[in-house]
Amino acid sequence: MDDVYKLYNNNASPKVHIKEYFDNYQNIIASSDTFIPMKKEATNFMTLMGVQLGEDEISMLTHYCSVDNLTVEGEAPKIPNNRRMRKKDTFDPKEPEDVDLQTVKNLKQRLKHEIKRPSYKYQSELFINYDKKTEPTKEWATPGQDIIVYIRIYRPFAQRVKNGPKKECGSLLWLNNVLAMLGSQTLADLRDKISCIADYTISKECSNNLDNAIGPMAKDVYKSGFFFIEDTFYNDMRYSSNVDYSKVIIDWAERRPKLGPFKTALMEECRIDSLNLRFGFPWVYKHQGGCEHLVVFSNARFINCDDDLVVSAYPKIVRLRPTATKFCMICGIYTADWITIEHERIPHNPCYFCHTCFMSYNYVDGKKIGNFDVYAFPRNIEAVNGKIDI
Ligand SMILES: [Zn+2]
Ligand SMILES: [Zn+2]
Repeated sequence: MDDVYKLYNNNASPKVHIKEYFDNYQNIIASSDTFIPMKKEATNFMTLMGVQLGEDEISMLTHYCSVDNLTVEGEAPKIPNNRRMRKKDTFDPKEPEDVDLQTVKNLKQRLKHEIKRPSYKYQSELFINYDKKTEPTKEWATPGQDIIVYIRIYRPFAQRVKNGPKKECGSLLWLNNVLAMLGSQTLADLRDKISCIADYTISKECSNNLDNAIGPMAKDVYKSGFFFIEDTFYNDMRYSSNVDYSKVIIDWAERRPKLGPFKTALMEECRIDSLNLRFGFPWVYKHQGGCEHLVVFSNARFINCDDDLVVSAYPKIVRLRPTATKFCMICGIYTADWITIEHERIPHNPCYFCHTCFMSYNYVDGKKIGNFDVYAFPRNIEAVNGKIDI
């Protein structure tokens, strides 16, 4: 694993035991009198300042201490904190004219040569805003005690095969989404929140029996899967039909002296905060036999009052990379419902059809015309029916 992804070692953190790290941190802040309480309330500020003020005095102080008072006439406009927006305005270098700043000169120079918009860290990602859950619940997370962990899930990719044809090595890494979850939740909770097209309809050739095209969801039939983190395979064994995916890999690795030893554990018993891992290093999630995703733990912190404190709100998707919709290649208007392979009367292989175009081009009175294989376009049926939010 480390040999395959050694490139990432430069960016990865040292190994961190999440629970121990935050227990230590809690001890430090508990014994420190400079710790700022989590709640941004007037009483907390007064305690911190060691004073007791009336309501009028507090509002006057708030007014005098506002950052808006730091603005002087003629200064460059304040750049709004618009990281959360996909498209952002850049600072107009025309202003201010009379200030001889090197940064302004550099910006003018850069924009002169720049044809495209400058790229930003979050430009390709959408932030998801949720309304805070207000339903009555007994399970609340505690600010300053519960840990929130951010995990980046990537789209499936094909591992580069030695001497394999180049086009089959589609190993470009694309972010799927970023999940936030609590330290008290398990890897199985994480797995249930990962959305992948391979989990949807089971692909079967159905050109002679279109009524039978959509069967059960693959994730309801093939429920096995594992996470590989550091040296441990965390298998999903919640259902009796599940297969230990790691066994064949461990058997294979045992014949290679440079690999292993590996451990196994159950993902449903592994709390996120019990993990001892490197942040920023890509770990693996595997499901549906051969569908492999990279999973990166990117951040962890104490939950605070600005976060949703209802435990059932987690895991939740906080950012996602939008996916391009597949449109019908005939009309270009409707979304794809069918995929044909090796269609003798179509130059595209595969070719995407909407239902109307597919039926009108390929069937006459319900009879198949020409040779082709057809598969239903995989869809998340539950999302379409509004049963789950993705
Ligand atoms: Zn997948
Ligand atoms: Zn169409």
